[in-house]
Amino acid sequence: MKDNVKTDFCISCRRERPYSLKKETIRKTIRGSDYDFSITSAVCVRPVEAR
Ligand SMILES: [Zn+2]
Repeated sequence: MKDNVKTDFCISCRRERPYSLKKETIRKTIRGSDYDFSITSAVCVRPVEAR
């Protein structure tokens, strides 16, 4: 069982895919000052499939 896994339509895969929400912190420097941004990005989980 996995937490934070949700199925939604992926425009890249053009089908329903499990998504994993990943939190990450990015740092940007704006006009000489550092700012930390906490963002949540949805990562499409692609099962390994033989083609
Ligand atoms: Zn996808």
